[in-house]
Amino acid sequence: MAGDISPSRTSSANVRWWAPWGNRRRVQDGPERDEPDVSASELLFAGVREYQGRTARLVRPILAELAFEQKPEHLFITCVDSRVVPNIITASGPGDLFINRNVGNLVPGFGSRTPDDSVAATVEYAIEVLGIRTITVCGHSNCGAMAALLAGGAEVAHLRGLTRWLRHGAHSLARFLASEPGEGDESPLARLCQINVMQQLDNLRSYPWLRARVEAGELELVGLYLDLETANVRVLDPAAEVFVPVPDEAPGGARTAGRPG
Ligand SMILES: [Zn+2]
Repeated sequence: MAGDISPSRTSSANVRWWAPWGNRRRVQDGPERDEPDVSASELLFAGVREYQGRTARLVRPILAELAFEQKPEHLFITCVDSRVVPNIITASGPGDLFINRNVGNLVPGFGSRTPDDSVAATVEYAIEVLGIRTITVCGHSNCGAMAALLAGGAEVAHLRGLTRWLRHGAHSLARFLASEPGEGDESPLARLCQINVMQQLDNLRSYPWLRARVEAGELELVGLYLDLETANVRVLDPAAEVFVPVPDEAPGGARTAGRPG
């Protein structure tokens, strides 16, 4: 996806702007050299320097165009997990995604007993102010939040804020416990991670105004699932309640406008 603007042409073919810092250091220093102790902030600053030196000039025209108004196509709700990088898995750029990230990609349901307005505020602003017509909930495998739910929350019981937040996943856990294992060989955790996406889409529909928009065909809800081990992204087939490969582009369908082939 880095395509023509990748800086990799001037360096190692293994280096991309989206590679983890540690990966780049290995490539640049060679595997045989001991990695020097570098603080996290030094890594951050090195990344910013690289951005300033190589990427900023490339995105400057795009950001300058967007500087005073954003028109994202999409509200993307996903987990805080560092391995989930929304712009990579959707090949999107500045201005494309309005993103809400939280522990477990949870959407507190309408009238939830544990108050939280952060997700609702994002959804309201996205739909009512920005005019966004599609909301995606994107889950992922090996989600720590889902693992904590599956384990009954004991390991995080001393973390009061997190424990309160994870109550918003109770419906996902209940749905998981009431479900039958699928035909695949997915682990219980993977199954919960996927069921959680379905449940959070239902939680979005629990808001009467939002449900009305969906039923009127004015708003589309999408479920995505990133499998970390394979790096594959699948989309929810809501009727079958399974995640399937994203369909091929329809003949004569929408082009990926604005991106060099
Ligand atoms: Zn997660």
